[in-house]
Amino acid sequence: MNVLAIGAHPDDIEVFCAGTLLKYKQQGHNIFIALTTSGNIGSNEYESREAIGQAREQEQLEAAKVLGAQVRFMRFDDQGLQDTPESRRSVINAIRWANPDVILANYPLDPSTDHAITGKIVSEVMLSIPGKLIPADEPPISRNPSLFFYGTAVGIDFTPEVYVDITDVFDQKKEALSKHVSQYAWMDVYQTHGLLDILEITDKFRGLQAGFIYAESYRAFRIHGYMPNFKLLP
Ligand SMILES: [Zn+2]
Repeated sequence: MNVLAIGAHPDDIEVFCAGTLLKYKQQGHNIFIALTTSGNIGSNEYESREAIGQAREQEQLEAAKVLGAQVRFMRFDDQGLQDTPESRRSVINAIRWANPDVILANYPLDPSTDHAITGKIVSEVMLSIPGKLIPADEPPISRNPSLFFYGTAVGIDFTPEVYVDITDVFDQKKEALSKHVSQYAWMDVYQTHGLLDILEITDKFRGLQAGFIYAESYRAFRIHGYMPNFKLLP
């Protein structure tokens, strides 16, 4: 199978669904990552958006090595993502590029604006994937991927429908997240818990709910033609 994880920022994939990707990788599937923004305001340690974006893309590529994933950057502005014909075109291109059986994406009701817009765009372009007259650069694909939304930051306003046991890959997930070095300095400025602590607590809490040590959690997208196949989750 081809599995595509779509996120708003470098580190979204590692925080929310990297354990699931590692499980897929163990099973021999192909992993793709596509990001709508490169997180180009996500640091005060750099002097320009370009410099932050470049540093964070490099961190994402390092994290992707741990996950064995290919990465595609769409490069819209951080904290400024909008649902426009241009951003839709870019997301359609990314989905067609990966030709996925499964898509994991941000939740459209996530309190973070970039997360919510990313999830909304993915949901709304699903019916455009096979259309040859839809404005896009990649050719149409004929697969009908199942779309699952991953959780929100620390689980706020997110009630899971299904859980994936990530206990045996949790250490690797932490290793992948640890590549996002710029985010440690940044998060420490305004948060009581560091990024790895947040991961430990959130994934353990989801595991507690599901009867595992560590878990990631999802909700499924439903629309005619793209009904979720829960059996495709690892
Ligand atoms: Zn994010």
